[in-house]
Formats: sequence, C-alpha cells, structure tokens
Amino acid sequence: MKTLAAFFFASLVCTSAMRAADGPNDFDNTSRFIFYAVLQGLYEDGVSNEDIAQILMRKEKQSYFHFIYACPICTATIWALETYRARPAHFYGLKSAASTFGHGLPADMREQLYSDDPHQRLIAINSLVRSWVARRIDAMNFSEQERTVLLDQIEQKRKDGMRALESFRKHEHGKDFGVEQAAPAYVDLEECAVCNGAVGKLMKMPEPK
Ligand SMILES: [Zn+2]
Repeated sequence: MKTLAAFFFASLVCTSAMRAADGPNDFDNTSRFIFYAVLQGLYEDGVSNEDIAQILMRKEKQSYFHFIYACPICTATIWALETYRARPAHFYGLKSAASTFGHGLPADMREQLYSDDPHQRLIAINSLVRSWVARRIDAMNFSEQERTVLLDQIEQKRKDGMRALESFRKHEHGKDFGVEQAAPAYVDLEECAVCNGAVGKLMKMPEPK
C-alpha cells in the first residue's frame, strides 16, 4: 500500500510536467483520485440505480441538475456515477444476483436525497462525497505530506469549479447557457456541493428568508 501511495504522490508531483510534455490530458491524477473515490464509495455503499438516477437528475435543456457543468471535480464524479450505473446487472457466478457490495444508502440519507428542496438534496450529495473521498484518503495510507499535496490539488480544482459557476452566472457562455442551464441547483448558491465534499467541507446554504 505504501508503495502505491508513494507512486501516487510521485505522479501527483509530476502531473504538470507530464501535461506539458503530453499535451492536454483529461485524466490527471487528481481527477482519477476523485473518480476512484466515488466509484469505490458507490460499490461499498451499494447505492441503488434509482438513487444514481436521482443524483444524476437531468431535466430538459439542462445539464446535470446537481452538478456544475465543466467543474473538474463534478466532471470526475459524474464519470464515476455513469460508470457505476453501467456496471453489469450482476456479478458472475453469484447466486445472489448482486451487482454491488453494500446494502444501499441509509433511510435518512435517501429521504434527504429525494427531498423536494434542492438544497436538501445537495446537502445529501455533499455528505456522500465527503465520506467517499475521506474513506479513500484513509485507505491510501498517505503520509501527511502526500495528503497535503492531494488536498491542495483538489482545492485548486474546486476553485476552477467556482470560477465556472461564476462564469455561467455572468452568461459568459451565451444567453442560453447560464447558471439555470449549466448548474440548475446553484442559481442561489456560491459553492459546489460536490467540490466542497471533495475537500471535506460542509455545504454552505443561504439563510432561510
Ligand atoms: Zn463542482
């Protein structure tokens, strides 16, 4: 495990150099870390396909409702959710016909995830991502320095996500692709539930009026 962690750390440090040498790379190590953290969390928690559909809610002429379009952490999270959703219907050779490891999300989490209030749904998604990323960080057995480097790189991506949200709010991508289309759950929010989850932060919600 330690060797893996050391390799991961070396890869993280080398990311910018590799990017310069290899040209654009959609799959840098931080995105891959987020992808694996979410995918592992989904399998370990045994999230149902119905719950995946709720997290990946999508309405007509909108991007994914609970995510910010072009936000790098949201994007890697969507990759994992879509990958998990496309998993085989059941594991080979098992009588149980199971397709995942865990027993599903707890009832209170599901209730929040299916709330009519999008803020409540974002709080649920934020706590899921927080737990999945924290669990993978623990599992990787990073040194303090490795952990700091990783969290710093995730934080940089979180800032990119916030900038993306702001650019949609300012309609920098055309009048038909503002925040209502590109990040529908975020019309009255400044921070991303998924990105905050990835850096271990709670979701900040506006004061009730
Ligand atoms: Zn995000």
